[in-house]
Amino acid sequence: MTDFSKKTNNTSKSASLETTAVAELIEIEKLGLTRSLKEVGGPQEPLVQIGNKKVLLFCSNNYLGLANHPEVTKAAIDATMRYGASSVSSRLISGHMTPHAELEDLLAKWKGVEAALVFSTGFQANIGIITSLLTRDDTVISDELNHASIIDGCRLSRANVEIFRHGDMNHLEDVLNSSARRPGRRLVVTESIFSMDGDRAPLRDLVSLAKRHGAWTMVDEAHAVGIFGNNGAGLVRDLGLTDSVDIQIGTLGKALGSFGAYVAGSSSLIKLLTNRARSFIFTTGLPPSCAAAAAKAINICMREPERAATLLQRARKIGEDLREAGLNIPHIDSQILPILIGDSRETVKAAENLLRRNIYVAAIRPPTVPTDTARLRLSLMASHEKSHIEKLLTELPSCMEEARLDSK
Ligand SMILES: *Cc1c(COP(=O)(O)O)cnc(C)c1O
Repeated sequence: MTDFSKKTNNTSKSASLETTAVAELIEIEKLGLTRSLKEVGGPQEPLVQIGNKKVLLFCSNNYLGLANHPEVTKAAIDATMRYGASSVSSRLISGHMTPHAELEDLLAKWKGVEAALVFSTGFQANIGIITSLLTRDDTVISDELNHASIIDGCRLSRANVEIFRHGDMNHLEDVLNSSARRPGRRLVVTESIFSMDGDRAPLRDLVSLAKRHGAWTMVDEAHAVGIFGNNGAGLVRDLGLTDSVDIQIGTLGKALGSFGAYVAGSSSLIKLLTNRARSFIFTTGLPPSCAAAAAKAINICMREPERAATLLQRARKIGEDLREAGLNIPHIDSQILPILIGDSRETVKAAENLLRRNIYVAAIRPPTVPTDTARLRLSLMASHEKSHIEKLLTELPSCMEEARLDSK
């Protein structure tokens, strides 16, 4: 992933913040990388209000429609009435409340592990785990497409960072071999379903390689949890790797429709993180409403596995249809469909064309993805209806073609 911290340096040291900010924004604009917020009125449903029009939403992580599921919102409301709007304190002071404890028990059972710990976000979980386990004498070995929060966790830990080519087990083996003589611990980190590509890590091979080389493993299931595996418990459990993966993490904020994140593993791991993870210790506990909503969402995933199954089936079909229409979509199996374009400006234009026709798709550019791999990222929701998909399939090819011609 591209360096987040890269700054342009064309203003003098003593320039005012205002001058510096304006100059840097111009640089960002020149690269076609300006980001801005779009205000959505109403819940994350297939049809959302943006400004004065209703648009079809194809970039929400509300994959299973749980964020506005009546049982999930009711759980949040009930918990708010009973426990208040906030936990107000760190979990280690007085902020560890009944909904947290109940959620952690449920997570551990769902995942089939000894224990789980809820963090306030996945970003904080990744930072907290890696910095708790590694120091400058250790080595972290990370897939090149891993999420920004994993990258920042690696950096903050001060460990040696080795990057292996995306999903490339030969390269991982080379890195494991070449780092073998270094003293210290080694941790291999990967996502299971990759956030911007929708593809999956070769988890079985990765875990057995790491084991053979005496390295620990950590798997981020942010985009898999709720959707993959029996009862939505994720790919690690589905592949029978629960006992071989040392650390599992995932967010409560995507398919589970709530907010927050979990780490799942052995009781000692969880105790160590409780004692050491600064992003757990020095922050306010998750609001009780979020914990209760996430627990309800997990129960729905267990009760209604057909939600995820239907979603994946539909994604396969849409991928096929779009490939037939000539779009560059890799053969993957997930609810995330990347349409590779390459050029950032062309990608933004395609997204603008789509929005003009009332379809909201995210243009994903560096530094979220590597240079020259800008793309439209479609994310599908179980709540999309047939007519929504039909409109998407009709409009996408022409919007992209117009953007291509415009950028010539
Ligand atoms: C979204 C995401 C996170 C961060 O989770 P939050 O709970 O949103 O902070 C971490 N890892 C991956 C792979 C993600 O996609």
